[in-house]
Amino acid sequence: MKRTSTRLLALLVCLLLLLTAVPVPAFAAERVTTCGGDCPFYPTIIVPGLGQSSVIVTNDDGTPKLDKNGNKIAAFPAYLQTDKLLQKLLGPALLTLFTQRDMGFSDAFADAIEEAFSTNKCDDTAHPIGNVMTEKFPYPYSQYSDYEVETVNHHIPFELYPTDLPRDHLYYFEYNSFGNHMDLAQELYDFIQLVKAQTGHSKVNLVPLSQGGSIVSAMLDYTPQVMDELHKVIFVVPALDGSMIIGDVFNDNITFLDNEYLYHGFLENIRLLDQPTAGLIELAARILPDDILMTALQKGVERLVKNIMTRSTGMWALCPSGDYESAAAKYLSDPASANIKAQTDRYYQAQLRSRDNVAKLMEKGVQVFCMAEYDYSLINVGTRWNNQNADFIIQLDSTSLGATSANVGETLPDGYVQQNTHCSNPAHNHISPDRVIDASTGLLADTTFYFKNQRHDLTQHNDIILKLAMQLIAHDDIQDVYSSPDFPQFNNGRNVQAIRELLATAKGVDQRMLPKAARTKLNDAIANAETVLSKTVDTADALPNAEKQLSDALVCAGKKAPEFSAPDVFTPIADRLYANYGSNGYSEMPRLTIKKALDSLTAFFGALLQK
Ligand SMILES: [Zn+2]
Ligand SMILES: [Zn+2]
Repeated sequence: MKRTSTRLLALLVCLLLLLTAVPVPAFAAERVTTCGGDCPFYPTIIVPGLGQSSVIVTNDDGTPKLDKNGNKIAAFPAYLQTDKLLQKLLGPALLTLFTQRDMGFSDAFADAIEEAFSTNKCDDTAHPIGNVMTEKFPYPYSQYSDYEVETVNHHIPFELYPTDLPRDHLYYFEYNSFGNHMDLAQELYDFIQLVKAQTGHSKVNLVPLSQGGSIVSAMLDYTPQVMDELHKVIFVVPALDGSMIIGDVFNDNITFLDNEYLYHGFLENIRLLDQPTAGLIELAARILPDDILMTALQKGVERLVKNIMTRSTGMWALCPSGDYESAAAKYLSDPASANIKAQTDRYYQAQLRSRDNVAKLMEKGVQVFCMAEYDYSLINVGTRWNNQNADFIIQLDSTSLGATSANVGETLPDGYVQQNTHCSNPAHNHISPDRVIDASTGLLADTTFYFKNQRHDLTQHNDIILKLAMQLIAHDDIQDVYSSPDFPQFNNGRNVQAIRELLATAKGVDQRMLPKAARTKLNDAIANAETVLSKTVDTADALPNAEKQLSDALVCAGKKAPEFSAPDVFTPIADRLYANYGSNGYSEMPRLTIKKALDSLTAFFGALLQK
């Protein structure tokens, strides 16, 4: 009896295992679409930006490592193990605090930084050697599992933006941002072949975003035959000539390693983004004496740049061509780096030709579009952060393929006339209404759409950019910036994340119990928000107004707490400390206070004696 039940159990387990076994998705070039290549659409491949792929931390045996909640762990940009970090840092930190001398803190700090980023380490041939893997989806969106849909939408919210393109024609190219750039270019080329075979179509569309632009640019140069396999390329804020942030970091021109600037520039700018946090960082940073803090930062940055970033050809492809040679001389001139340098030299050539290659694409009849963003300075990490107009992450010259622009807060000089370098139609006006941009010097003068006051890292929350992209991948009716009044050459940036959430809350309100006035207010606000969201020409103030109206209506209906921001206690203290003690640490303050007192006394007696 007992034996039978054991057998039965074993059989049951076997059956269960069989039933629950997940079929391995076809990595093969089998036909998966029903159109067989005979339909008016083109399969479209999204080539996402920096960190917009699922690259996960693995165990030594290659299986995904899971966190306490059983979730996979993202390897980008770093794998922070707080417990381990604390263990390493706590001892040296306490010793340093008590003695106010660097008792191994700066080295432990640099070790901690390097270890956190070690998942993204590469060897001397620029191949990743950390415990990471890229989750690949070599089949169309229509075949994605719930997990894959969620993963991809976490980076780019496709589900929110319907497109006429059938979902079995939509593909997402996953890659490791720290990966080997030459491999990535080849992998993308191979992916295009796979998509062609799976769909039966002979040409595809590409939508490269940000870093994805560098991969497409490399592919066009390394495997130029791909040009005949493309129907349309839609660049979205592409890093075609890198980012000056990387150019500055790779040339050791970093702002915050200067202690004056750390407090009075760098953290000041962080305050614009998140004031209380910046205040708190300032207060915490003062725990350490000034010189120890700066040594720790210096060592940490040095290790990150030398051992992680400049070992990655994916990162090198983000270095502007103008900054490449000096940076390569600094970080790649030793014999051990020869292999990496051969690869980055090769990309440098592709980068110098990137605009020519795009021009070649157009000569071959490929339609090329671009979306660029402006009116933000670069994050102030590199010393040239405020030299050119940018989108917070990349300078406009790179993303617009050469548009001329005034710097943030400035306009083109009086009497400036449109250069028409890349526009031959005298009827076109390529000067932006705010007189900041001359789009005619950009290679894609007639097909580049500009978004003012739009941050690069929030692009996925600009519904207009996504709607335009969805329209372009499904239809050919938009040929240039003059094709549709719904998508003008110059538009405003926006972020619809908050208003979408408010709208969802508002629509979920059970209105039966509401007083008439509150109900009317809520319905008016819903209607206005929907109107604003339905429009693809943004008027800068319409969205914030609609958002406020909706928020007020929800408060009035008792469905939302009134706007309340926690009082910021840190910043005023940080300000007073800076005013009185500059960038000095707490331990230096008593000495400075006495010195100040003595100075005032001396001055007082000095003044007395003179009388
Ligand atoms: Zn088709
Ligand atoms: Zn034109």
